[in-house]
Amino acid sequence: MNHPNPKFMARAIELSRLAGIEKKSGGVFGAVIVKGDEIIAEGYNRVIGDNDATCHAEVDAIRKAGKITGNPLLEGCVLYTSAFCCPMCLCAAYWGHIKEIYYAATVDDAKQYGDFSDVDYYEEMKKTVEERKIKCSEFMRKEAVEVWKEFSKMSDRARY
Ligand SMILES: [Zn+2]
Repeated sequence: MNHPNPKFMARAIELSRLAGIEKKSGGVFGAVIVKGDEIIAEGYNRVIGDNDATCHAEVDAIRKAGKITGNPLLEGCVLYTSAFCCPMCLCAAYWGHIKEIYYAATVDDAKQYGDFSDVDYYEEMKKTVEERKIKCSEFMRKEAVEVWKEFSKMSDRARY
């Protein structure tokens, strides 16, 4: 089952229309998570609708899939997304142990037709921490590491 199923991508694209054109809840982005032969969760962009900068279609679908399966790790699941993932959603797929991703539109399409910044953020990720737009500085490390040390001694600590 290494072939993409057009039925699943058609649903992701339908959700992108719902988000960007019908509900106007955000950009033209929709996604579904598939396990075996069925969609277990759907998501669409609600950044504007929910005033949530992180409510991208893929993150939305990954969150729902975890709740539905009762497991944050979506082993063996495939993500179909109407447009290639931004860095946040791509990392969310890694954190969720998604097996494979199929995408329809590219980040260049999202830039050309919607002026979305995915391309810029991918460029930003290639820079060193010092070169990036958001300034990041270490602060109160010792205090934070005290908690990490305590955590590292727990036998029942979370592993992910
Ligand atoms: Zn995203």
